[in-house]
This record gives sequence, structure tokens and C-alpha cells, in this order.
Amino acid sequence: MTMTLTVPPRTDEARLRGLPVVVIGAGPVGLAAAAQLLERGIDTLVLEAGDSAGAAVQRWGHTRLFSPWEYLIDEAAARLLDAAGWESPKAAALPTGQELVDAYLAPLAATPALAARIRYGTRVSAVSRQGMDRTRSAGRAATPFLLRTVSADGVQGEVLARAVIDASGTYSTPNPLSSNGLDMPGVENFHDLVTHALPDVLGADRARFAGRHTVVVGAGHSAANTLLKLAALAEQAPGTTITWAIRRLSPLRVFGSDADELAERGKLGGRVHDLVRGGRINLVDGFETDQLERDGARVRLVGRRGGSPARIAADVVVNATGFRPDLGMLREVRTALDDIVEAPRLLAPLIDPNLHSCGTVYPHGVVELTHPEPNFFIAGMKSYGRAPTFLLLTGYEQVRSIADELAGKHAAARTVQLTLPATGVCSTDIGSASGDACCSTEPAAVPAPAFVPVTGVIPTARPTMAATSGGGCCAPATAAPIGAQR
Ligand SMILES: Cc1cc2nc3c(=O)[nH]c(=O)nc-3n(C[C@H](O)[C@H](O)[C@H](O)COP(=O)(O)OP(=O)(O)OC[C@H]3O[C@@H](n4cnc5c(N)ncnc54)[C@H](O)[C@@H]3O)c2cc1C
Repeated sequence: MTMTLTVPPRTDEARLRGLPVVVIGAGPVGLAAAAQLLERGIDTLVLEAGDSAGAAVQRWGHTRLFSPWEYLIDEAAARLLDAAGWESPKAAALPTGQELVDAYLAPLAATPALAARIRYGTRVSAVSRQGMDRTRSAGRAATPFLLRTVSADGVQGEVLARAVIDASGTYSTPNPLSSNGLDMPGVENFHDLVTHALPDVLGADRARFAGRHTVVVGAGHSAANTLLKLAALAEQAPGTTITWAIRRLSPLRVFGSDADELAERGKLGGRVHDLVRGGRINLVDGFETDQLERDGARVRLVGRRGGSPARIAADVVVNATGFRPDLGMLREVRTALDDIVEAPRLLAPLIDPNLHSCGTVYPHGVVELTHPEPNFFIAGMKSYGRAPTFLLLTGYEQVRSIADELAGKHAAARTVQLTLPATGVCSTDIGSASGDACCSTEPAAVPAPAFVPVTGVIPTARPTMAATSGGGCCAPATAAPIGAQR
């Protein structure tokens, strides 16, 4: 007698369940996502373009963070590390980027639970669904994601996933120098005269700046950091001079405030303020850059100031104009991104720099990070799009919430707990007539987004003070004490 064994066909759901959640990027948020997922028994695979954990952080490794260690460590990551006998750094100390890697990210990536789940030298070039471009709808949610990868030596590969968390950051896609946001024609011919945002002024790149005139373009913390280092270099190397060109009419937001709950962030701006007041940094405000001109071994920024043509000559220009997300790789997934900030559409109104100059943000999680593409999320620095105020604590709470959602713990996913230190300075262009700063008492009217989120909640306008934290965006957006984070 012959027996026929009938194997039931694998359902789409079972097929999906057998696949990992793929996390793009082994930075602080990508690794935290992996730790959170593993803690919930969800298989995960991290794809990292660099050859080690924290590859982007290492590129600015000489820079000291303004957050102390107590705000830099994810809780699930700490539990993995503790199990491996890790000695946690002192809570109040401020690490450099390299120390963040050496004392936290590298040991985390080396834990037995994570080590085998990270693939280095693997850049994700595109995300799609298996056999489906973005126009196909039938059966979409039950179809695995397909990630196209490329290795350091150019070999292409494909990886399947049940869900994708894009935590690839923004560090490798800086904004261009020009005010119109486009690369200037011929910009590739200026590589010797223009540097990226955070050169190692006092270390490896010192010779490029010592005894020379540098123009720093941009009005964020990266610019402030570089200005301070250039000022320190000027003390040691005669002839080192500094110009700071900003598009804003006032640098007040960079100058920060004594009320900043992250003391180092507040002091950073205060020191720049002193140097400007003392004439050691020549501030050119309201400067719009249009193009670069070469003048022998020197460079000229050509643009406008107060409506009139203006020029600034330099030996070297530092482009500290901020970063933007790489969206090209997401062309085949259905994202819902804000028109202005390029952040997920429900998150954007909470962080739009036109409205919120503070680092504080309303607690948010999976609801705000949901896209029309089921089980696809953007987290970490990249989730803020072009907004500059991202803090790691925010990212850790984002991926905690996403992990709960993917684990089927929907209520926990929607209970977001986050208190961020307030900046204490909340204004847009001080001196501008707009009055639409986040601490303005007059609400700024912004049209409702067309995207209707899965929760059915349709935001009606960019939230204002009253609509966000209740205490205004200058007050910490609070749901749990800071001490909840170690
Ligand atoms: C100078 C500086 C100082 C900062 N200081 C603070 C601070 O004090 N406190 C604070 O809370 N925040 C700070 N931040 C902001 C923020 O927390 C950091 O930028 C942080 O590194 C963001 O973490 P992330 O994991 O989202 O992204 P990243 O750290 O940028 O990690 C992204 C990872 O993805 C990889 N990757 C990129 N593209 C791909 C791809 N296509 N495929 C595969 N892998 C890819 C990168 O190599 C990288 O390893 C600072 C930022 C800067 C630049």
C-alpha cells in the first residue's frame, strides 16, 4: 500500500513569519531596533553599508556629543550588554562620537545575540516587494519585502524580509551649499576647497585650516562645533581667521540658552556667541549662496545679502548646511512623507523647523511612523527628514514602539513614553516679521495633510503650542520621567 503524504501549502502568513525583520543601518537606532526586536522573540537581520557598527558616527568621531551617556543608551540594548558583562559608562559623562562607538555601539554589535545578525559591507540600494512594484495592490501586505543590496566590491544581492525598518540616517546625504537646494553646476571641481560638515580641525585635517581663512556655512550644531574648533586653532596657529555665513537673519537659535536642559548644548551656542561678540568670528547673516568661483588656490562664495549681490572669499569652505534623507532607495515602497520636511507625514508637523525650533518633540511612536506600505517604517535620524533636532532618546522610543507593533502588542506600541530635555530657546528667524515661531502665541495655520493614517486620526493642522504638549513646545513633552531611560 502506498501512502501519499499531503503537505499543506504554506500560507502567505507562514511564509512571511519565516522571514526576518530587516533593519537598514547599524547605527545607534538600527542596533537598538534589533535589540528591541530580539527581546520580543522576533528574528532580525541588520544590513550595514560600513565595515563596522556606528560607521556614520565614526565619521564625526572627533566631535563631542552634547548629551551625557544617560541619554544615549537604549534600554533593550543595555540589557543585552549587561548580560554580556558590560561595564556601563558614567551617566553624566559626555562621550565623543568615537567613544560612543567604542564603549557602546561596538560592544553591543559584538554581543552573541546580535553579532551573527549584522551583515557589514552591505549597502541597501533599493527596497521593494517580491515581484511587485509600488503600483500593485492585490496581496501586497502578504508579500515579502525584497531589498536589493550591493557589497563594497560592487556585487549585487537580494534579501527578503517580513518587515523593514529603515534606520540608515542622513549623514551620507548632506544638503548642498546653495540656497536653492540644488548642487551647483561644476561643484565636483571644488572638492579641494569645500569640506563636509565636521572636519577634524584640531586633528587629522588641521593643516587644511591652520593659518588660513575658513568660511563656515550653516546655522546648526555642526556649524557651532566647527566654529569653536577653528577658534581654538586660531589661538595656536597665527593667521587662522573665521567667517560664519548664515542664511537666517539672526544666529540667536544657535547661541542657545542657559535654560537648555542639555547643559553642553546650551554652552556650545554660548561660546560661539562670545566669540562673535569678541570679533574672533566674523558673522555674515542673511547671506544666500548661489555659486562658487575659483580664484587661483582660493574660493569665493557668490550670492546675495539683503537683496544685493555679495561675495565672501576664503581659503576653504565648510559646508555645514545640514542633511537630507536618501529617498531614492525607497522609490518602490509606498511612503507618506511631508512635502516640506520629508519626514513621515504625521511626525512632520511635530518637528517642522519652520514651526519648532526647540529640540523637544511630542512623544511619538508607531502611529506617527506608519506609511501606506504595511510593515515599513523609517526610524532614527532619517525619520526627521530635513529637520535638525533629532535626539537618540526619540529614536529609541520610536523603535521600541515599532517592535511592540510588530510583536502584536498594539496597545503597548501606542503607549509612548518620552521626555526630552528642553532647549530653552524656541524661535525661528528672530527679527523676522513672521511671528510663527513655535513659541509664538499666534497659531500658524498650515493645511491638513491629505494622507489618512491607518488609525483613522486625521490631523487638521500643524500643531501649535497648545495642540502639542500642552505646555508649549518649549516645555518638555512629557509622558514619563527622564529617569525612565538609563
Ligand atoms: C556631530 C553630531 C553630534 C550629535 N550629538 C548628539 C547628541 O549629543 N545627542 C543626541 O541625542 N543626538 C546627537 N546627534 C544626532 C543623532 O543622534 C546622531 O546623528 C545619531 O548618529 C543618529 O543615529 P541613527 O542610527 O539614526 O543614524 P546613523 O548614526 O547615521 O546611522 C545610520 C547607519 O546606517 C548606515 N547606512 C546608511 N545608508 C545605508 C544603506 N543604504 N544601507 C545600509 N546601511 C546604510 C550608515 O553607515 C550608518 O552606520 C548628533 C549628530 C551629529 C552629526
